[in-house]
Amino acid sequence: MSTLHLPRPIARLMEEALDLLFPPRCAGCGRPEWPWCPACAATVSPLLPPVCSLCGIPWLRGERCSRCKEDPLHLDGVRSCYIYSGPIRRALHQLKFHGRYRLAQALATGMVEGWTRFGMEADLLVPVPTSSARQRQRGYNQAAVLAQALSERLALPMHPQALRRVRATPSQVGLAQRARRENVREAFAADPQWAWGKRVVVVDDVCTSGATLEACAAALYQAGARSVWGFTLARVILKEERDQKLRL
Ligand SMILES: [Zn+2]
Ligand SMILES: [Zn+2]
Repeated sequence: MSTLHLPRPIARLMEEALDLLFPPRCAGCGRPEWPWCPACAATVSPLLPPVCSLCGIPWLRGERCSRCKEDPLHLDGVRSCYIYSGPIRRALHQLKFHGRYRLAQALATGMVEGWTRFGMEADLLVPVPTSSARQRQRGYNQAAVLAQALSERLALPMHPQALRRVRATPSQVGLAQRARRENVREAFAADPQWAWGKRVVVVDDVCTSGATLEACAAALYQAGARSVWGFTLARVILKEERDQKLRL
């Protein structure tokens, strides 16, 4: 059962009670050490500058990567805290299929570091809304779990109701960049009551092409947001990005 639907103090008490019974474990491999065991801590890959000023992939040669020069994402920018690999990949899998408050707390520590590293600023955090069918299946939205943990750590407001999905979209897995953008176009709507005049940061677990964050941003700009950045725990480095980069 997810504890996310309970009032937060009660959810936390339950987590604390569970910690006594089941001590917190390494987010990457489950050994009884927290947040990472030494082996996982040695293999997590923080995403470090220099990065492309727009999409945030590791990038050495000038301000924008080749893809952003040719076909830029339409939002203020994207930043991610880790390369999607090793222990981070395993931790996200855990979070996706066995949502745990403690795990989100462990991952939030790295997100706060990433936030500071990239000088992020926001008036409002908004998680990428998952489809209601997917949320029903899992009982919670992992982007919201991460955004909630980040919001508590940074003392920034989070309002999931600022953004909603207005149409279900097939999974992005296996789609090429152009198809991904087409797949999520106009899939979201934002509420000006929350977004108007705000510097909004859209939070998600993983960024692959940036297409979902871009579609969220389109809705938020339309609702009057002053700026929209994407911020994700992890970043998938695509094959063509590995080929074009020169680093990693
Ligand atoms: Zn470990
Ligand atoms: Zn780029």
